[in-house]
Amino acid sequence: MWVRVLGSGAGGGFPQWNCNCPNCRAARNGSPGCRPRTQSSIAVSADYERWFVFNASPDVHAQIGAFPALWPRRAARDTPIQAVVLSDAELDHTLGLLLLRESRRVRVYCTPWVHTALTEWNPILRTLAAFARVDWQPIRLGEMQPLCTTEDTDSGLRCEAFSTESSKRLTFAPAESAGHPEASVGYRISDARTGRSLVYMPALEKLSAGVRGQLTDCACLMIDGTCWVDDEMARLGIAGKTAREMGHLPLSGEGGTLEQLAGLDIARTVLVHINNTNPVLIEHSPERQAVEARGIEVAVDGMEVEI
Ligand SMILES: [Zn+2]
Ligand SMILES: [Zn+2]
Repeated sequence: MWVRVLGSGAGGGFPQWNCNCPNCRAARNGSPGCRPRTQSSIAVSADYERWFVFNASPDVHAQIGAFPALWPRRAARDTPIQAVVLSDAELDHTLGLLLLRESRRVRVYCTPWVHTALTEWNPILRTLAAFARVDWQPIRLGEMQPLCTTEDTDSGLRCEAFSTESSKRLTFAPAESAGHPEASVGYRISDARTGRSLVYMPALEKLSAGVRGQLTDCACLMIDGTCWVDDEMARLGIAGKTAREMGHLPLSGEGGTLEQLAGLDIARTVLVHINNTNPVLIEHSPERQAVEARGIEVAVDGMEVEI
């Protein structure tokens, strides 16, 4: 199977329109060694013909435009995108759904909790349904499900969702909904033919035993690389919340992602969902070198991985 990183940035992208942090300034000025990034999304295919888009970012049009495999080919109105698969209901992962409204039908895979969030609390799916037929395919935790094409044929991909056990409350969701196991999930995506799999987790607050269990014999891991340190935003005077409070385990420090990934036997590990404040975005920064010294890659838009 093939994976294309459509967008490697976190919410806001890189540079973020209203952010004046040193990274965003450098990217805006075209400084060498800091490539702009659109908001987080990947596309996965077993045949390089039919694609499944994991999370629909507000940059989805630019991302389709930058990847010819997602251009229409067969009819006057057509798309190789078979479905959108959602890992949570965050705006940077779902706003792009509205931008697909020209489609006659949009197939959406997500958990019942995410479906409720997007029909009741922030009714993106209800708005979309005014333009296109929304074909919801429920994702059930811990169940291996086939990803089906728009013609209901087998795409050759299997997908299993697991809870990332996030404690974060979605901004527009009722307080009592925080910590629901279906609110934020990771995906283990497998190629039925080769048996090889990718684990995709753009938001991860802790590498719990349950999450670790998903990482055994995955050929490629695409994991949350949002922040370098827990108080990154506070240090820059941007926000009071820590990375963990925003549902993202920081990369560095005690108990950080890098420390916890050491010793796991994964052929290829790629950081995705990288916030514009993260120093790993700057090529040749000490933080970037520390990541690469561990054999971990920092995703860029347009990166393709064959698994
Ligand atoms: Zn995000
Ligand atoms: Zn910034």
